Amino acid sequence: MKHLKIKILSILTLIILGVATVVMGYYILHDKQEDDKRMAEVHKSVRINYEQIIGDTIQFYTARANANIHSPNVIHTIRTGDHDALYRLIQPRWEVLKNENPSLIILQFHKADGTSLLRMHQPSEYGDSIALKRSMVAHIHQYHKKISGFEGGLQGVAFRILVPIIDHGEYLGAVEFGIAPPYLTEKIHRYTEYDSFFLLRQNILGTFTHIDHYFPMGDYIAINVPSRFLPLLKQYKSNHRILDSVTVKYNNQSYAISSVSIMNYLNQPIGAVMFIREIPDFWRHAVNMILATLFITFTLMITLALVINRTYNTIADTINFQELYSQTILDAIPSPVIVTDGNKLIAANQTFLHYFHYENIESFQRDHQCVCEYFEVGDTKDFLMPMNNDQRWTQYISNHPSIHHKAKITINDVTTIFDVKLSVLHFQEQFRYVVIFTDISSMQALSITDQLTGIANRLHFSMIYEHAINVARREHKPLGVIFFDIDHFKQVNDHHGHLIGDTVLKQVAGLVKKKIRKSDIVARWGGEEFIILLPNTDLDEAVKIAETLRLAIENKPFETIEKLTCSFGTVALHENESSEELLKRVDDLLYEAKAKGRNQVVQ
Ligand code: GH3
Ligand code: MG
Ligand code: MG
Repeated sequence: MKHLKIKILSILTLIILGVATVVMGYYILHDKQEDDKRMAEVHKSVRINYEQIIGDTIQFYTARANANIHSPNVIHTIRTGDHDALYRLIQPRWEVLKNENPSLIILQFHKADGTSLLRMHQPSEYGDSIALKRSMVAHIHQYHKKISGFEGGLQGVAFRILVPIIDHGEYLGAVEFGIAPPYLTEKIHRYTEYDSFFLLRQNILGTFTHIDHYFPMGDYIAINVPSRFLPLLKQYKSNHRILDSVTVKYNNQSYAISSVSIMNYLNQPIGAVMFIREIPDFWRHAVNMILATLFITFTLMITLALVINRTYNTIADTINFQELYSQTILDAIPSPVIVTDGNKLIAANQTFLHYFHYENIESFQRDHQCVCEYFEVGDTKDFLMPMNNDQRWTQYISNHPSIHHKAKITINDVTTIFDVKLSVLHFQEQFRYVVIFTDISSMQALSITDQLTGIANRLHFSMIYEHAINVARREHKPLGVIFFDIDHFKQVNDHHGHLIGDTVLKQVAGLVKKKIRKSDIVARWGGEEFIILLPNTDLDEAVKIAETLRLAIENKPFETIEKLTCSFGTVALHENESSEELLKRVDDLLYEAKAKGRNQVVQ
């Protein structure tokens, strides 16, 4: 039982642990997938927003460029290359534009010959061959098409939009707007709430190499990195390939760094918008989750253990009570009672143990496999054997419920006849036989003894008669039978009364019993008729015995009557003769003896 408790507990623990592990694993995996998904969404949203912002900016400054150029005065001053006049014309608009967007750092007019006409941000610098240094400028002069993209210059790296100035089909030059990168990163932050910076190839600086305020990262320069991210970037730089999207841990905090690649005006990759996001530390989260799960699991297990323990105790108490209860009932029965599964003894009552002289059931089991080892063969066939017709005794009894089953058992030379009753309990493929052994020895004796004379009665005789014939046949031994009747017994009754008649009957029986052998059996057939079974006795001997008895009775001095005689029929068993035929023959001979004048033996 104790083992069962531990077994149940272990199985449940394993189940709980298994389920907890699966659930935990699922959640961690799910969390990780969710995190990856979130990251992908962030990436997408930054890319879309970036493209949107760039598109809007290009559109916005193209419109501003057109608005500024397309006035006859402006066109005229550009045509004439009048730097000062153009400056005066554009100056108020430049103020408005700078107010509108403080990140607008460049507004420059390029002449078609490749020189700078006017830098609004640096009016004193002009006339230099800027197209030689700046490929975007050279490009627009060649193709006369609006272009935009990042490029280095005197003002550093800026997002530049160059719009051609065309008047009546003639290309006069270009107007250029330059926006500092923070403009874009601020917008990204406003739309997506992510910090970002630009990572651009060093070569976009072209000949403008003053990169002091940029953060170099291999072939790249990082532009506008928020200062708090600088140490983080150093770590990224030393541990990862530049532009890789990774998670970096810094100061106990994890950051996701992702990149959205960007192109120059020729659609060549020149770097990326890198954006940084603080992310909850996945593994710390996982550990917290594992700890929480373990805590819940253990709490659950302890609760379960307590519940199981309690339930187990209650069940055990009930079972103990039931066992005690059943044992008490068994012990209250005055006959031996056992419970067996048809093979092994399972329970026995006190009467049983007492009868077999055993202290307890275990000591009985040590000596015996089965109570049926005690079963003895009787005079007749109707005693149980361990095996009956190839069936175990328990099986045999349950298959033959209408027979009165009896068992003969001898303990310390005292033979007892038991009536054996059996109840079958069949529960879930299991059999239990409850067997009650009722001592019927005294009843048995009572039923087979003639009450008046104390010798065997006719029932007893009939019980052993067949058996005696069978034994004689089997063992090829003779069998003698004497049948005798008291002569004129009616007169004894008539003259001396029934009581004297009874006494005479007793005396005759006693005398016969004394004269015959122990192995011979005398029975009262009825009234004043007796029958004697003489095993291993042939006809001659039987006749001699009958003659001896006849003389003994004739010569016996009875107290109350003067003389008593008997007539005898005597036979020996013939081969192939039935029991009925034998009886008929001996009865006929007795009749003959009576007819011939009584007090004689006829064979
Ligand atoms: P026979 O020589 O032909 O046998 O004559 P009988 O008188 O012995 O035979 P019958 O059959 O006429 O009578 C038998 C008598 O035995 C009749 C009955 O009263 C008597 N008897 C039978 N059983 C008992 C008994 O148990 N006690 C007494 N006292 N008498 C009995
Ligand atoms: Mg008679
Ligand atoms: Mg008679």
